[in-house]
Formats: sequence, structure tokens, C-alpha cells
Amino acid sequence: MAFNPLNWLLGMFSLDIGIDLGTANTLVYVKNRGIVINEPSWVTIDKRTREPLAVGQKAKDMMGRTSSNLIAVRPVRDGVISEFNVTQEMLTYFIGQVHAQSVVPLPRPRVVIGIPAGVTEVEKRAAYDAAMSAGAREAYLVEEPVAAALGAGLPVGDVKGSMVVDIGGGTTEVAVLSMGGVVVSRSLRVAGDEMDQDIVQYIRNKYNLLIGESVAEQVKMKIGSAYPLPQEKTAEVRGRNLVTGLPEAIEVSSIEIRDALSVSVQVIIDTIRDALDEAPPEVIADLMDSGICLAGGGALLQGLADRMSDELNLRVWQAEDPLTCVVRGTGVILSDFEAMKGYLVSLERGSTRHR
Ligand code: ADP
Ligand code: MG
Repeated sequence: MAFNPLNWLLGMFSLDIGIDLGTANTLVYVKNRGIVINEPSWVTIDKRTREPLAVGQKAKDMMGRTSSNLIAVRPVRDGVISEFNVTQEMLTYFIGQVHAQSVVPLPRPRVVIGIPAGVTEVEKRAAYDAAMSAGAREAYLVEEPVAAALGAGLPVGDVKGSMVVDIGGGTTEVAVLSMGGVVVSRSLRVAGDEMDQDIVQYIRNKYNLLIGESVAEQVKMKIGSAYPLPQEKTAEVRGRNLVTGLPEAIEVSSIEIRDALSVSVQVIIDTIRDALDEAPPEVIADLMDSGICLAGGGALLQGLADRMSDELNLRVWQAEDPLTCVVRGTGVILSDFEAMKGYLVSLERGSTRHR
């Protein structure tokens, strides 16, 4: 798009933001600026006062290390808001950061926020209300697979079908899209967190070593895989030996970690197969051209696309920068809001009380 000074000037005095409220990470996109916030969806709360003490990365760093008066909370569970007030505080904080980063005072924003496909009316309403009470002037909802597909550059508005698999922290969302909408969707609670748990369990069973979730996550990101690696690797893990009670460090191999992750990986593949089973044959024919696009942090697991291609007989490919697909998709909508309104989902009238 050519530079238009009038639009630029108007942009100075309006604020359009897109939010990917994930179970693991929350990202905020500001129109004309790009991604300005990318932080873990964590809040540390003082148990006695219920006051939030830290939000985002600071709060995640406290995980597993908090004193008895503090709790570290992830307000988004299984893809949907489970703790409304905490979510609201987290969003208020992040939107406040956006305002703080600006040299000119900005008005209350128009917000586009992602929700998983196929959620209930109450869950949709919770996302809407959280955005509004965090200071939005107006809030709109988009289904995450649609946003992910837009962010990945898929031809979402096309009659031809496409498929997105978004592997996040708490959930994996599988969606077949056609003509701008979701045709078939599946959601399962096996994703990045479950993989971390798999590693904790495996190390515990095999070595009697208790490791923390964040240690498991680091091992997964470093040497985790779903397919034999050209060069297998090793990593050190530290924890507490359950027999001696003492600290211990051991070396684990990528072959062992692959073994630990195998059940979760298989469950995700079976769910994709199940969604393919339900897709109309015309769409299946389209998918033989377009393949399956992997998004979300879990898409970064080494060898995952190769493993899936082998098992599903379709081309499986990783979106560019899979962790930011959804929020960049909200940015695509904000770039031409009027033309893209068709991608938004509506909300039934009425109000709901939140926990
Ligand atoms: P959500 O949308 O639920 O917030 P994200 O899309 O941000 O989730 O993905 C977060 C998940 O991706 C976490 O479980 C994280 O451990 C996982 N992840 C991030 N990088 C990698 C990697 N290189 N390999 C495997 N998993 C990864
Ligand atoms: Mg996500």
C-alpha cells in the first residue's frame, strides 16, 4: 500500500489493536506499528489481597519459585478464559503498556481479539467483556484458526479449502477452512504443556529424577523432536533425585525425549486424521494442493511437519514465525477493517456474569 499522509495522521490519533490471548503467550499488535507486546500469559497474585504483583515474563519467572503468600496463575486454560478477573487485569496491564509506549496520548482502542473455534456463547462473551473492561472502545472477535490462516498468508477467502493446525500451550486447534469460515474443527487438550508433562514423567520414571516444568520445556525446545534427527543430540537436565533427595544432573538424548513425546504427538496426528475424515471430498482434493499449515509454538517441534507428512499423506508445512501467526492475522483484519469484517464472529445479545 502506498504511503498516505492523511491515513498516517489519522493513525496518530486512533488506536487499533489485535490481541492473541493464548494459554501460554499473549501478543498485542498495534496497527501501523506491528507486534509491541509478546509475553507469557502469567500473573502473580498476592493470596491475601488478590492484588496482581507481576504480569507476563516477570510472573512466569516466579513460577515454581513463589513463597506461600504468592501464586502464579495462568488465567487462560484450555484456550478459554478460566479466571475472568485475572485475565482482565492482565489485559489492562498490557493495553496500559501500549499507551505508555506512545509519545502522544492515545484514545481507547478498537480491539480485535482471537477466540478458539467452536467455543460457547459464554466463552465468547468472556473474551469480549475482558477486552472491553480492559479499556477497549469497541471489541470484535475472530476465530483463532481464521486469524492464524490470515497471518500465515493462506488464501482464506478462497472457495478452495485450506487447513490449519495450531499447537499452543494448553490446546491444539485443528481447522479446515473454506470461503473465510471454519468448515470442520477439532480442539484437544494435548499441546505444549502436555509435552512438558510427558518429559517430567519420563525422567521421573526412568531416572528417579524430579524436574520442574520449565526445565522440561527447555529440554523440549532444545532437543525435542517428532522424527529422527539427522544428528541426534543430548542435553543436561537438573532436578532432585527422588531416592537420595539430593540435587542431580543427568544427560538425556533426543531419542529419549522423542520417545517421551511420542504419545502426545500421535494423539495430535490422530485428531488431524479425524478432522480430515469429516471434511468434504472436494476440500480434501484442495488440501492435496495446499497441504496443512502448522502454527503455534508447538509447530516448532523439530521434525513434526515431516512426521505428519509421512502419516497423513499430505504436504505439511510450518507457517513463517508460527508463534505470531494469530496476532499477525488480527493485524491483517485491522489493516482494512471494513473489507475484512466478514471474518469476525458475532456475539448474541445479552449479558453474562463472570467468575
Ligand atoms: P498459546 O497460543 O496457547 O499461548 P503458543 O502458540 O504461544 O501457545 O505456543 C506455546 C507453546 O509452544 C509452549 O508449550 C512452548 O513450550 C511451545 N514451544 C515454543 N517453542 C518451541 C519449540 N522450539 N519446540 C517445541 N515447542 C515449542
Ligand atoms: Mg495460540
